[in-house]
Amino acid sequence: MTVPTVAGDEDDSRLLANVRPPDWANPEPAPRYNLVVIGAGTAGLVAAAGAAGLGARVALVERDLLGGECLNVGCVPSKALLRSARAAAQVRDAHHFGVVVPDGARVDFPAVTRRMRQIRADLSPHDSAARFRGLGVDVFLGRAAFVGNDAVEVGGKMLRFARAVVATGSRAAHPPIPGLAEAGFLTNETVFSVPELPRRLAVVGAGATGCELAQAFARFGSAVTLIGNHDSILPAEDPDAARLVAESLARDGTRLLLGREVAAIEVRGGEKILRLKGGTAEEVAADAILVAAGRVPNVEGLNLEAAGVEYDTHAGVTVDDRLQTTNPRVFAAGDICSRLKFTHAADAMARIVVRNALFRGRARVSDLVVPWCTYTDPELAQVGLTEREACDRNLPHRVFVQEMGRVDRAALDGESAGFVKMIVHPKRDTILGATIVAPHAGEMIAEVALAMTAKLGLRTLADTIHAYPTRTEGVKKVADAFNRTRLTPTVKWLFEKWLAWSRG
Ligand SMILES: Cc1cc2nc3c(=O)[nH]c(=O)nc-3n(C[C@H](O)[C@H](O)[C@H](O)COP(=O)(O)OP(=O)(O)OC[C@H]3O[C@@H](n4cnc5c(N)ncnc54)[C@H](O)[C@@H]3O)c2cc1C
Repeated sequence: MTVPTVAGDEDDSRLLANVRPPDWANPEPAPRYNLVVIGAGTAGLVAAAGAAGLGARVALVERDLLGGECLNVGCVPSKALLRSARAAAQVRDAHHFGVVVPDGARVDFPAVTRRMRQIRADLSPHDSAARFRGLGVDVFLGRAAFVGNDAVEVGGKMLRFARAVVATGSRAAHPPIPGLAEAGFLTNETVFSVPELPRRLAVVGAGATGCELAQAFARFGSAVTLIGNHDSILPAEDPDAARLVAESLARDGTRLLLGREVAAIEVRGGEKILRLKGGTAEEVAADAILVAAGRVPNVEGLNLEAAGVEYDTHAGVTVDDRLQTTNPRVFAAGDICSRLKFTHAADAMARIVVRNALFRGRARVSDLVVPWCTYTDPELAQVGLTEREACDRNLPHRVFVQEMGRVDRAALDGESAGFVKMIVHPKRDTILGATIVAPHAGEMIAEVALAMTAKLGLRTLADTIHAYPTRTEGVKKVADAFNRTRLTPTVKWLFEKWLAWSRG
């Protein structure tokens, strides 16, 4: 990861002092570590802190910035930008609420990015080298490479281990589009440090990162074209939910070109021209191109062969359900080995590694219930199976849907687009999955994730009292709808008999 920071910027200097201290001296390695952690992103930091907290002797190696993608070039900067974008949209839409803003919204983009850098620096002490040293972890700055099945080398120093965890994450894929490299492009590693708002931005890739940033830049005032090679945005998500998000992106001014691929790019008169294939031949002119077209695992340079750790350059390090690699001493966690590339998934996997690697635990990844969310407006959150996955797998299921327009809080807030969709077992009170599309869907999905983790069904959700008026009533209303289906004709007949009898 190269993280372009703004030279001389006070907040970026604070960030670097925490996550890449310029005067850092690597310690003398211990004779042998319980756990050597390679990579100090979420997975690595959680593994290192967890293991050290339990008394293990731990080494943590980071080649770039502690905090990894999430803090430096992922969740944190993106969500800070999204917040500013939401403020701009709220001012734009204020008249819907009877609030007149005479001159409308004007976005001060340098102030937006300054705010982001300040928050990022404020959050960075938690991931700092000093904090981890304070936790008793030996922090090494440098690139780690295996030199055998029980040792890695960093900056000429040998770290011997009983167990190691590869937590080296992933990076943006660079699609092999002719002319892309010559034209120059942004990825998540560089987009957060652009000095000024691009007048025209072409976003290549309509997954979560592409959609979130397309909407944010459109709300800031860029003319955004979002190009996706599937027929819908967020192709892995529930199609009804993705459609609502697409409508919202379009309302914000994003031009959607879906089912299209970029054939080639050339620079003409200072403009970047993207030539599209699929559909009618078309050209898109842009001042900047953001590539958000998938991820590749950081397997290079680790010399995994020396440790007998198998890997694939697309899928990453090969692990079993307990996150053990083909070398029984070596485990992996996070983006490097997971299809679910999320911070909270990396965190959960790191906890599994600590148990399994250090204490011969039997924790399994397949037991995890992992929700996720795309932080567009409205948000799209998912846990468990989508309706389409249940169909594709021929799983018997029933679907219950509650439109957010019939949830009072959503109507009161003027945010009634969206729904809660619950996929349930047809015979048992078992939740198979849920899709929520709504503002704050990422918060709402937590209740369903809890229910699935604790193996609670919709009856319990229906019995749970939800404060009025809140959006989570959407979840309760689905549960109520499910409950009503339990009133079979026989039960209804019995109730009627009982009530008739008790009238006297
Ligand atoms: C724009 C964007 C927004 C995102 N937003 C969200 C979000 O809102 N919510 C969410 O859950 N997820 C989000 N993600 C995904 C999230 O950032 C990742 O899933 C998460 O950071 C993965 O953590 P990790 O520890 O596996 O890897 P990383 O954070 O990538 O850490 C790996 C570390 O290993 C280091 N490393 C690599 N090779 C070596 C080596 N040989 N020696 C030493 N160190 C090495 C790297 O420098 C890096 O610091 C977002 C991603 C992007 C791109």
